[in-house]
Parts: sequence; structure tokens; C-alpha cells
Amino acid sequence: MSNSTLRHQLFIDGKFVNAESGETLATLNPHDNSVIADVALAGKADIDKAVAAAKRAFPAWSRLSGADRGRILLKLADLIEANTEELARLETMDTGHPLRDSRSLDVPRTAACFRYFGGMADKFEGNVVPVEAGFLNYVLRDPLGVVGQVVPWNFPLMFTSWKMAPALAAGNCIVMKPAEITPLSSLKIAELMSEAGMPDGVVNIVPGLGSVAGQYLAEHPGVAKIAFTGSTATGRRIVQASAGNLKKVQLELGGKGANIVFDDANLTAAINGSAWAMFHNQGQACIAGSRLILSERIADEFLEKYIALAKSIRVGNPMDEATEMGPLTSALHRDRVLSYVDVAKEQGGEILAGGKAPSNAALRDGCYVEPTIVRPRSYKDRVAQEEVFGPFVTVLTFKDDAEALQIANGTEYGLGSGLWTNNLQRAHKVARDLYAGMVWINSYKRVSPGSPFGGVGQSGYGREMGFDAMREYTQARSVWVNVDAQIPPWYARG
Ligand code: NAD
Repeated sequence: MSNSTLRHQLFIDGKFVNAESGETLATLNPHDNSVIADVALAGKADIDKAVAAAKRAFPAWSRLSGADRGRILLKLADLIEANTEELARLETMDTGHPLRDSRSLDVPRTAACFRYFGGMADKFEGNVVPVEAGFLNYVLRDPLGVVGQVVPWNFPLMFTSWKMAPALAAGNCIVMKPAEITPLSSLKIAELMSEAGMPDGVVNIVPGLGSVAGQYLAEHPGVAKIAFTGSTATGRRIVQASAGNLKKVQLELGGKGANIVFDDANLTAAINGSAWAMFHNQGQACIAGSRLILSERIADEFLEKYIALAKSIRVGNPMDEATEMGPLTSALHRDRVLSYVDVAKEQGGEILAGGKAPSNAALRDGCYVEPTIVRPRSYKDRVAQEEVFGPFVTVLTFKDDAEALQIANGTEYGLGSGLWTNNLQRAHKVARDLYAGMVWINSYKRVSPGSPFGGVGQSGYGREMGFDAMREYTQARSVWVNVDAQIPPWYARG
């Protein structure tokens, strides 16, 4: 891909434009920290322009039939598939996702999400409520207006679809701010949106700094809702910023996934699945299974094989077809992840594997970290409580089911958790008792456009995907019709 084909400007009102200030920010390739492109950096004036464009587009877009809105999203899904190779390479270059994953997961999941909500656009219904005799009461599900969306850098392409597809299907207009370090794939989606026939102004994409553009979008009085995926600390700032006009808020925040392996589990499947749960995308996933919780009866056997598997994961240039783990997405983040190795040691933790950058000279300039396995002293230690967001798993053991649950539920987060067992009753009982928005049994990290995605506790509120997402992007309005109600007069006169 030549750099001249890269979209690197803001997308406002159907056009690619420079920032009003003329400012840009370089986006880097995490394999070697070389500059991929200088990308326009949105400031307050650009956000104002984008919100105004979205506001102008809203009446026509929201009154279009669901079928017509859906047709554009379905066309977009086809275009995404037709551009799989370019999108996959762009995502890999900007984020460090291994190319095989960008191709087989990120792009197909992005297309599937737009297709699912394209199909949903003319099927999401209001309802009729049985009320008192003589009245018809119906409930409309109306779009909210201009929606602000703030996306993180770990799955920039896929999250663009998770955020945009339901909002657009429901008839909203969008101002989306991608993460400043990974703006390229969402700008390519903007180009494909136009090709699919999206009217100008319905979608605006404004890369910019979180503390400036993101903060201003969250505060903006012209924005009816702010949907955010990112860290819990930023989520709190978003809630405060939203208070000015009482905008609706949806938060997908951090996680510290518990992954419990019982002694009756299929160990071969559990070892492979647990490694993927942790090391896929270099562990940069809010739903990563970053706390391995093992029955002490199988812990030695499990760990021996799990460590061997982790050490055999092919870490390398994400553009190489054979690579199974690429670099972390930025040098800043790599340093943050590695700092947790010292945190573990300070609290008496034992490093069972990794804990450093790979020695391979070809990876020296990149943001690489080896698969890292740590045994902390207690589930209360910092490394077992705080989200590291890298290829960094903690291992703890338990005696019985009660202790497994105590450890699993012993953090402030509640996003995704999993368990491995062949005991049917135990599987459902533990799934019921886990404090998590999503639970996987004998598997991990499954997602689908139809299945609600989101957390409890400090992992946020609101749900993406499925009918829940459509509810999040609409508001119920109740209409009362007097058909033939016999209402005695309140003020009887003569
Ligand atoms: P982050 O909170 O630093 O940034 C996320 C986004 O928010 C970026 O676009 C950033 O520019 C923007 N931002 C930063 N400060 C802002 C502010 N004051 N106002 C408005 N926007 C602001 O998070 P990150 O480090 O980019 O992403 C990693 C985090 O995201 C992890 O905690 C991870 O668990 C979480 N995450 C959650 C989910 C989920 O669905 N629950 C999914 C993926 C990632």
C-alpha cells in the first residue's frame, strides 16, 4: 500500500479536510516506530463543524425508511469485504495486530457487524401497550440525534463498526473520535461509507487528542449521547463532562477477566483456549482472560504445558504471515506493561515466563513484549487487581468452587470471565455466580453482533450489539390516542 492512498485528513460533512489549526500528529508503525502518516488533528473548531454537519443531516437521515438506511449499511459491509486485504494491512500496520488476525477476525467481524445492523434497521419495532379501555397507546423508538463516539486503539476497525452500526441503523448521526494513535482504518471506513451512498454529514470522523477533542465532544451541548470505549479512569471523566447538557452516556470500560480451570476440564482445550484468551492481540483486550485461576489438583500439569505453549508463540513482525503475536500498539504502552514486572516482583511475585522484550535483534526498534506469566502471592496483589492490558497473565490456584469464585469475583471489574469444566451443573452454577457481563463456558472471548456486550461494576454500563444496542441508541416515546374512551367530565357543569 502506498502512503499516498492513505486517508489522513478529518472526514467532515462527506469531505476529507485538514484541521482548522493545520495541526497534525504522526501515527507510527509499532513494529519499528517509523512514521506511517501525519494525520490531521481535530481541535474544538473541527468538532464544532462536525457536530453542525451531523445536526444538519439528522432530519433527513432519521426520516429515511429503515430499509433505505439498512441498504447503505449492507452495501458498506460488502465493500469492507471487497477491501479486506487493504483494511487488514492498514490495521496491522497501525496497531501491530498479526496480519492473519486482522484478515480472519478484525475485517470479517467489522463487515458482520455492519451487515447485522443493516438487516436490523427495518426490523426494530416499537410496541403497543394494553392500557385502559378506549385508548390506543403506542411506543415509538426514536433516534437520539447527534451521537458522539470515542474509540480506543486496541481494536480500532472493529470498534468503529460496533459503535457506528447500531447508531446509524437507529437513525442517529455520528461524530466519532478514533484513538489518536490508530486513526487509519476508521478513515478508510469513511471513504467506503461515501462509496456505499451514505449522505454527507451523517458520519463524521475526527481523529484528535483525547484530552482536547474527546473531552470537548463529551462536553458538547449539541451532542445527545456520548458512547465511550476505553479505560475506567477516562470513563469517569466522560461522565463528568456529560453533565452540562445531561447527555446520555454509554461506557465500555476496563476488565480483568477471570479464567477458571476446574480439575474435570478437558485440559488440552483449556490450555490452548486459555493461551488464546490471554495472548491474542498481545493481551490488549478488555475481555482478555488475564487472571488464570487453576484447581490445585491440575495446576502443575496445566502450568507446565501452558508455559511451554506460551514460550512457543511466534512473536514477530505482524506483517509476516507466520507471526502469532505482534508488538504492543505503542512504546508508551509497552513501557507501562513492562513496569508491571517490577510491581509483581516488589510484592513477592514469581515470573514464570517472559517479563521482557524479546532478544531477537530484528524486533529491537519495536514495541514487543514476550508472553509473560506471573505467579503473585495473593489475588489481592496489584498485578492481580489492575488491568495491565498486555501479554501478562497472573496465575492463582484454588481448593474448591467457593474459593475459585471468591478469587474470580475479587476485583472491581466485571466484564468477561470464563470457566472450563465437563460438569454441567457446576458450569451453570459458576456462570450464574460470576460477577461479569459476559461468561464463556469451555471457550473464551466469543463475540457476535447479536449477543449483548458490556460490563458490570467498574467495567461500565450499557450494552453494545443486538437489540440492546438498538435500545441504547433510541429513546421510547409514548403516544396516547383516545379512540372511544368514555371519560366522565372532571368538572361537571349543569
Ligand atoms: P483511554 O481511556 O486512554 O482512551 C480511549 C479513548 O478515549 C481514546 O480515543 C482517547 O483519545 C480518548 N480519551 C482520552 N481522554 C479523554 C477525555 N478526557 N475525554 C474524552 N476522550 C478521551 O483508553 P486506551 O488506553 O486507549 O484503551 C485501553 C482501555 O480501553 C483499557 O482500559 C481497556 O480495557 C478499555 N477497553 C474496553 C473495552 C470494552 O468494551 N469494555 C473494549 C476495549 C478496550
